[in-house]
Amino acid sequence: MMKQIGLIIPVLNEEGNIYPIFHKIKEIISSIPQYQFSLLFINDGSTDSTIQKLKELANSHDFVSYISFSRNFGKDNALLAGFENIKADAVITLDADLQHPPSMIPNLIAEWEKGYKVVYTYREQINIHNNSFSNFSSKLFYNLINKFSDVKLEQGISDFRILDKQVISELIRMKENEPFYRGLIKWVGFNQKGIPYTPASRNDGNPSYNIKGLFKLALNGITAFSTTPLNLAIYLGFFFSCLSTLYIPYAIFSKINGIAISGWTSVIVTIAFFGGLQLMILGIMGIYLGKVFMQNKQRPHYIIDEQKHN
Ligand code: UDP
Ligand code: MG
Repeated sequence: MMKQIGLIIPVLNEEGNIYPIFHKIKEIISSIPQYQFSLLFINDGSTDSTIQKLKELANSHDFVSYISFSRNFGKDNALLAGFENIKADAVITLDADLQHPPSMIPNLIAEWEKGYKVVYTYREQINIHNNSFSNFSSKLFYNLINKFSDVKLEQGISDFRILDKQVISELIRMKENEPFYRGLIKWVGFNQKGIPYTPASRNDGNPSYNIKGLFKLALNGITAFSTTPLNLAIYLGFFFSCLSTLYIPYAIFSKINGIAISGWTSVIVTIAFFGGLQLMILGIMGIYLGKVFMQNKQRPHYIIDEQKHN
């Protein structure tokens, strides 16, 4: 029997990219006819004509199906919906904007055939089309994650990858409230391999992540994988307690000897500094508390509005 390969593409307002990526993929997969392909689009709450385009495609091609969310649930939840609803021996996830070159699909499959359960891609060279801010923020993002969490992510690791069905079934078992698959896929283990790719520039439309979104992603990426930030309070608290054992005797000594400094500046500086520090650490604890809160609600990861699915 032919091996089945499923392609999952999350889409948010990609009306200009649906047909281009479909044609590109069709061209590539016709060059490897020994596999049977299925294409599953996850419409993540698009407000443009993306859904109409998906319906047209799904109606005219048997191997194309779609799942349409009731609103935007985020890319990782879209991927989860794909994992839960696709049946294949291996699954490839890629972006709709053609930044993940579909021409690499045969390479991914070839590596999977060699026995790697996960073959992921990472950006080989920082794209000249990207502006330097996003370069800077992505560097910061990976450095922070690698510093703080137990899973190590390569700089520029992407959501373009092939996953064996064994990995898919493990990913589905995870009940994390905000799954962060780039990290979770590293976390599951198995035989993994990274291959470099050169990203193209976006085909049409604008990236939907902005500075605020990236910041949120970074915070989530770190706090979803590690409780190290929580230790910050212990370390800093210990450090400043030690310091104060020097400062307190000095203050008492000055008082007794009548040379206490008039000291407005030192008081204000200390209050401002520790006020900020305390708020920051309170915030870190708040993030984790929020995660426990959200997880506790056990809400579904996504809600399907309509679908055409074989
Ligand atoms: N996407 C999605 N839901 C979101 C944000 C993005 O499904 O909330 C999709 C988007 O349509 C695209 C992919 O995820 O196919 C990557 O998004 P984008 O190109 O905006 O991100 P970047 O390339 O900057 O990582
Ligand atoms: Mg993109």
